[in-house]
Amino acid sequence: MVLIDTAASMIFADCSSSSSTARLLLFNTTKLQKYPDNISLFRRSNSLQFGISSRSSSRTIITHCSSPSTSAIQINNETFAKVIDGKRVAKDIREEIAVEISRMQEEIGIVPGLAVILVGDRKDSATYVRNKKKACDTVGINSYEVHLAEDSTEEEVLNHISKFNDDPSVHGILVQLPLPSHMNEQNILNAVCIEKDVDGFHPLNIGRLAMRGREPLFVPCTPKGCIELLHRYDIPIKGKRAVVIGRSNIVGMPAALLLQREDATVSIVHSRTKNPEEITSQADIIISAVGQPNMVRGSWVKPGAVLIDVGINPVEDPESPRGYRLVGDICYEEASKVASAITPVPGGVGPMTIAMLLSNTLLSAKRINNLRMPAENIV
Ligand code: NDP
Repeated sequence: MVLIDTAASMIFADCSSSSSTARLLLFNTTKLQKYPDNISLFRRSNSLQFGISSRSSSRTIITHCSSPSTSAIQINNETFAKVIDGKRVAKDIREEIAVEISRMQEEIGIVPGLAVILVGDRKDSATYVRNKKKACDTVGINSYEVHLAEDSTEEEVLNHISKFNDDPSVHGILVQLPLPSHMNEQNILNAVCIEKDVDGFHPLNIGRLAMRGREPLFVPCTPKGCIELLHRYDIPIKGKRAVVIGRSNIVGMPAALLLQREDATVSIVHSRTKNPEEITSQADIIISAVGQPNMVRGSWVKPGAVLIDVGINPVEDPESPRGYRLVGDICYEEASKVASAITPVPGGVGPMTIAMLLSNTLLSAKRINNLRMPAENIV
């Protein structure tokens, strides 16, 4: 297996063998009533090899899972791995939101509005913004977009934020990241008023998330989506050992705070963690948000653990029409033989992120208009 293209973090990664304990744990099927047809309750007979797990503290990694030098042992393995279907859950959530929005419009004539500010010409950012707009359309949220040139000034961005802060038809403001390097991201994110911070990135929201007895107005969308998946599949969190891999402000750190709020015992693994597999292999729940393809091997996973894979990594694939495909941080093929439940990539956490953005925007419109709030306003 070969490493390619460091600049774009485009990695050729294979993950075709290995794993550690191929012990079988039955997933508690009584927990699966909400999404019964999601359950991939399948029986497989596999021959597994113990593999080499490789890791790197840089953005690039050679993930060489089918090492001929590994000591091969054959294990007849039956698995009951369950696929946590984020696409389907996100669709359900969008439908629920659409119903609420149409009721809101009928009863008080208010339509939630989301404003998105995009600076520059990054294609990926433009795609994300387009997808967000499309998602807003499907549920009946009004979307407002400002697209500024790459060489715009910070002041211009701040002016637009200020206008949206004052605009009563806008309930959520989102600044698409990353911003051009000449802009101060912190200044810009801090300018979004906390009541419209549907991304949940404002330090006040994060601060409240971290404090006992305080409630954030919004929770960042991706970690909120991870927890919502666990809830919708009735996967218990309280008292469980959870490991979050990655500690970024937008995913890893808030995911760890959320798990802690749900009474899990939480460890965080990051690029300087020694022997991460020793920590992950004790976890009942792993949320991985790293950006390293197939880094989490089957041998890193405790039998029966629940795995939430946030990572989205393009890996070279000559057979794909695009020349690449997307994989997660978790080596799905191996880990799904050990875990009790796992999110796929794509189709796991990704669709949930946008669903949570819509949910936060609806939440904001309700709060601003003093409508009845759900009993728990975070996930
Ligand atoms: P960042 O690059 O901001 O953070 C990555 C984190 O991973 C850092 O905390 C870093 O540690 C840690 N890390 C890096 N290498 C290793 C390693 N070898 N072992 C352990 N930890 C490591 O990424 P993001 O949090 O923004 O995104 C993470 C992944 O999630 C990406 O693939 C991204 O595309 C995806 N993503 C998916 C979303 C979705 O909707 N599904 C939304 C957002 C992101 P350190 O702090 O020490 O540097």
